[in-house]
Amino acid sequence: MWEKTGGVYSQHRAGRAADIKCKLATEKEMFEVINREWLTFKEAGLTRMEDVKVTVGWLHVDCAPEIAKDQPFLIVRPAK
Ligand SMILES: [Zn+2]
Repeated sequence: MWEKTGGVYSQHRAGRAADIKCKLATEKEMFEVINREWLTFKEAGLTRMEDVKVTVGWLHVDCAPEIAKDQPFLIVRPAK
């Protein structure tokens, strides 16, 4: 089912991604919290986030297979 090619949006099609919004925090604040606590989120399976400068109004997170272990999230900058 997993396809090796394709943009980050294929993670949604694979059921491995979420675009999250919060009434109490901006996407930048959520991004910063997740980055600060990255090990906890990574242990839960999260591997990537999109750059919030690109995704204004939501935060994209996904569980794509990891490229590098024991490192903070890969920050993805999707093409507009
Ligand atoms: Zn998304």
